[in-house]
Amino acid sequence: MEKGKENHKAHCLILPYPIQGHINPMLQFAKHLSHKGLKITLVVTKFLRKTMQEFSGSSNISLEAISDGFDEGGRADAESSEAYLALFRLVGTETLSELLEMHKTDSAVDCIIYDPFLSWGLDVAKKFGLVSAAFFTQSCAVNNIYYHVYKKELKLPLLETEKFVNIPGLPVLEPSDLPSFVYVHGSYPASFEMILNQFQNLEKADWILVNTFHKLEQEVIDWMAKFLPVKAIGPTIPSMYLDKRLQDDKDYGLSVFKPITDVCMKWLNERASTSVVYVSFGSMAELGAEQMEELAHGLKTSNKYFLWVVRSSEEAKLPKNFSEETSKKGLIVSWCPQLEVLAHEAIGCFITHCGWNSTLEALSLGVPMVAMPQWTDQSTNAKFVKNVWKMGIKTRQDENGLVEQTEIARCINHVMEGDKGEEIRKNAKKWKEIAREAVDEEGSSDKNIENFVSSLMNPST
Ligand code: UDP
Repeated sequence: MEKGKENHKAHCLILPYPIQGHINPMLQFAKHLSHKGLKITLVVTKFLRKTMQEFSGSSNISLEAISDGFDEGGRADAESSEAYLALFRLVGTETLSELLEMHKTDSAVDCIIYDPFLSWGLDVAKKFGLVSAAFFTQSCAVNNIYYHVYKKELKLPLLETEKFVNIPGLPVLEPSDLPSFVYVHGSYPASFEMILNQFQNLEKADWILVNTFHKLEQEVIDWMAKFLPVKAIGPTIPSMYLDKRLQDDKDYGLSVFKPITDVCMKWLNERASTSVVYVSFGSMAELGAEQMEELAHGLKTSNKYFLWVVRSSEEAKLPKNFSEETSKKGLIVSWCPQLEVLAHEAIGCFITHCGWNSTLEALSLGVPMVAMPQWTDQSTNAKFVKNVWKMGIKTRQDENGLVEQTEIARCINHVMEGDKGEEIRKNAKKWKEIAREAVDEEGSSDKNIENFVSSLMNPST
């Protein structure tokens, strides 16, 4: 159908930064858009395209690949992170442009939804005269902090005398609540530069979409909306998890790791309601060997059932014979279908690093959290989990930054049983309801998605 005609089937190309925590929410958003009638092409790197685990499923989303300069892998061998990102910008721009040229003849692209970690995605959209939408995969609060650093309204490094940080739209924060790149100034300079670069051309974007929902981050969303047209469109959790009556293509996912689905679900099916501690630190965080040991002993001391995701690269840090010794109480897997796990009634709490996806997923599925943040935005998310949304607690560290086994057991017990955890468990149920309302028909996020979709379907109106 020609552009400008009613209900033109618009074609959106979705470009996530190629790591699990960015692919997941953008793929889920792609599914929402596809259900609403848009044609979707998801773009990953050539290496990921070859190596990712594609779950079986019925999604009608096409998958295409561009180059980051490491089509055969070995990205970790790049001279430096700076060199990798510079090369990705160069060859990514070239190969994305080629892809758009190629589609001109069959199904021309109307819009690029790009991850602002790849801010050059916006430049390519502009070059081709396409609608551009930035899709932020981190919380609005975190984006607001980075924006203030970008604008130099929050000066770095923080002064040692600074005990509190005041940023409009946010509660008063302690310096250690800030993302690690801000608090530990100078750490991971290339990543931090990429994060600040998200804002350098952002005023040219036609849409700014954030994976959050209005009631969750009302104050900061309303504050940011005064100077940037931010629209909350989350949580991007498939509707079937939010409302069990709905069926969905839940199995369609792209995973860097192979989920051990059947074993996990069978094991959970044999456990009583809210009896299991689920433990995961996401796709990237690495615990120190000593921390891993404390965590293992903490789980054992708690005497609860546990399902623990220990990625293969972390496995060697487990105490010797731990899996065998605890096999009656625990299941350790290298990766699991997290949404399905969190939605299972056997889960009673989630020990999490507080990656934004894990936080949103737990919130939306009503699972109380024990927050054990490691780096990047996780401290900020943990602060909100504990003090603002009040649906979890945060582990305390000793003077060396270690969370001891007794503390881990204390936190598990606090959240899962007794009066002290009652408010947390009640709030968990409340947030589940509010999250569902946001994406239900006519909910705040649904309306924003509808407006976005109809602007693409009816570009002349
Ligand atoms: N995840 C999963 N299986 C696992 C662990 C994690 O599917 O065993 C998913 C999880 O549902 C989330 C993503 O991986 O969508 C992790 O993203 P998050 O932002 O929480 O953390 P990151 O990996 O970016 O640190």
